[in-house]
Amino acid sequence: MAEAVAKTRPHVVIIGGGFGGLYAAKTLRRADILITLVDRRNHHLFQPLLY
Ligand SMILES: Cc1cc2nc3c(=O)[nH]c(=O)nc-3n(C[C@H](O)[C@H](O)[C@H](O)COP(=O)(O)OP(=O)(O)OC[C@H]3O[C@@H](n4cnc5c(N)ncnc54)[C@H](O)[C@@H]3O)c2cc1C
Repeated sequence: MAEAVAKTRPHVVIIGGGFGGLYAAKTLRRADILITLVDRRNHHLFQPLLY
């Protein structure tokens, strides 16, 4: 199934789920494309705002 989708739509791979990756994904969320976001963590973390 995923292979069939990948053949008909552009596949955008975003490396890093920091602010850059997060905003890229949000900007492209309604685009007719397949998005894969890759990060070493499974969550967004901006440590300076943890306090
Ligand atoms: C203390 C502090 C305060 C700041 N305050 C402000 C502010 O007030 N306003 C402002 O505009 N900017 C501020 N900045 C700057 C802002 O945080 C950065 O400009 C912004 O986070 C850069 O975005 P980025 O997506 O390039 O990197 P990041 O947000 O750092 O994201 C990088 C992502 O890549 C992932 N990653 C890294 N290496 C790998 C790997 N090998 N494999 C997989 N994933 C990986 C990380 O897990 C992370 O999710 C501040 C920065 C700091 C340190």
